Amino acid sequence: MSAAVIDGKAFAERLRERVAEAVPAFASRAGRKPGLAVVLVGDDPASRVYVRSKGKATLAAGMASFEHCLAEATGQAELVDLVQSLNRDDRVDGILVQLPLPRHIDDKAVIGVIDPAKDVDGFHVENAGRLAVGEEALVPCTPLGCIMLLKDRLGDLSGLEAVVVGRSNIVGKPMAQLLIRENCTVTTAHSRTRDLPAVVRRGDIVVAAAGRAEMIKGDWLKPGATVIDVGINRIAGKLVGDVDFESAAATAGAITPVPGGVGPMTIAVLLRNTLTAAHARAGLPAPEGL
Ligand code: NAD
Repeated sequence: MSAAVIDGKAFAERLRERVAEAVPAFASRAGRKPGLAVVLVGDDPASRVYVRSKGKATLAAGMASFEHCLAEATGQAELVDLVQSLNRDDRVDGILVQLPLPRHIDDKAVIGVIDPAKDVDGFHVENAGRLAVGEEALVPCTPLGCIMLLKDRLGDLSGLEAVVVGRSNIVGKPMAQLLIRENCTVTTAHSRTRDLPAVVRRGDIVVAAAGRAEMIKGDWLKPGATVIDVGINRIAGKLVGDVDFESAAATAGAITPVPGGVGPMTIAVLLRNTLTAAHARAGLPAPEGL
């Protein structure tokens, strides 16, 4: 193995500390803590774990946490009512509706009623549009976390060839937008891409977000590439990424492991987005260095 391993866990811990350090200054100026509301519908075990850890991380950062766990049978109208009441609640700066929602609920309709100023997941079309046209926006946590790791590793990303594998609204598309904002030359590959290995081989940066276990092999990579593996796949009780770590680490210059790479960044950036939203809502300048 020659690649440096990018320690997302350590970076995420530092980010969480920086957020926590900025909370008291906000609280003294705004007269309240920043607050994050997380809404869970149903009892998907993975979602329960995520919601619990988001609540704990929120409290650990010194923020207020509001958890709403609703029964699987909750109707869409009731969920929309709850989101609207959170929109009106001044203690709440960020609203996160945990996905996936049960099948009888249209997640787009629910996300569409979140106040864009409180949309800390960055999934509302207003925030997606703002990102696309290069305006200030709340940006989805996972891709923003990937950009932070890339800039920490590479510094200026200008002019680099970046290949994003995956075009979801949650990861692939905002990732590509963020890389364009950093002046990369961006290719977005997806399930219909022809000759994916040849496309991936162009990348000085490769971001893998396809949800296909260990699909990207070492001989698909440009030597020295920086590889960010967003994938979380469970095989035989073990978590693996979308990149075949062993072969990739022999070719790449740097690579994120799974677990311990991108995963921990998501919650850290969620706290960062909540703090940013709180400042904007209170009419305060954005916290520096976050
Ligand atoms: P998704 O299923 O919504 O999208 C997957 C994308 O990959 C699609 O655009 C599809 O076109 C593309 N794709 C599928 N098969 C492909 C193939 N064989 N070749 C090329 N492209 C292919 O998934 P998502 O929500 O974007 O998540 C992607 C992965 O990232 C999943 O493993 C998910 O668990 C993980 N994820 C991790 C975090 C985190 O915090 N680390 C957050 C979100 C998602």
